[in-house]
Amino acid sequence: MPLLILAVTLLACLLPLRDAAAKLTLWRLDCGAIQVNDLDLFSDTFHFAGRQKRLANSCYLLRHDDVWMLWDAGLPESLLGAPLGGQPMSASLEKTIAEQLRAVGVAPEDIAILGASHNHFDHVGQASRFTKARLLMGQADFAALSTDPLPFAVDPRPLDAWMRGERPVETATGDRDVFGDGSVVMLAVPGHTPGSYALLVRLPRTGPVLLSGDAAIFDEQLAGGDVPSFNADRARSVASMQRLQAIAERLGARFVLQHDPDGIGLLPAFPACAK
Ligand SMILES: [Zn+2]
Repeated sequence: MPLLILAVTLLACLLPLRDAAAKLTLWRLDCGAIQVNDLDLFSDTFHFAGRQKRLANSCYLLRHDDVWMLWDAGLPESLLGAPLGGQPMSASLEKTIAEQLRAVGVAPEDIAILGASHNHFDHVGQASRFTKARLLMGQADFAALSTDPLPFAVDPRPLDAWMRGERPVETATGDRDVFGDGSVVMLAVPGHTPGSYALLVRLPRTGPVLLSGDAAIFDEQLAGGDVPSFNADRARSVASMQRLQAIAERLGARFVLQHDPDGIGLLPAFPACAK
């Protein structure tokens, strides 16, 4: 992006809207990519047999008045520059969240709330960086971090400091209105994991945006009602997908599937923002 356009974009994102009650701004961050060589892992009815797909891994920065919140913390930094290769699934990271935050003048310590859609390693990978953040996640997913053996794809290490009680934790059951004004609401969508959440963000100008977490993974999977074979609970997965589709339809929301490489384009690419 040319420097002048970049400067104008950054400034436009950081200035408040005159007509809005609360300043609310949403940025989509690049939190990695996942090469899936066996796409059939995302259906328990053999829908995707023999197929491959490159998935995105996105996370989100929100500013509510002067409070900064992160929704999901991406793949771990150990995967920076990793090759996307031969295993059934492999993951890589091009840039860190901290590096992207720097571009909008935000330090990792400025993040006051770290919301995690669920406990999988590709959603909490860089969490430890956010040393001043209150962790907000589903109670069942937080509890699962301490189980032995750990559930599939769960890596508790980035959340160590919160598990030891050194940083504040707020666990959720049911829906949770994050700022108490209805503008940012965590929606309980169990199934992928027992404590999975999606995030409804009601932006003053853009309108409602629904961030899927992993309750839905990519467009064709959601449309087919496909349940990944590694999900915790099939019936709840189906119910949660139905709930999100109904909400998206009723509210006319932009339904952003966080792993869908095309679907994430419903929001502008960083450093541009949605207000
Ligand atoms: Zn997941």
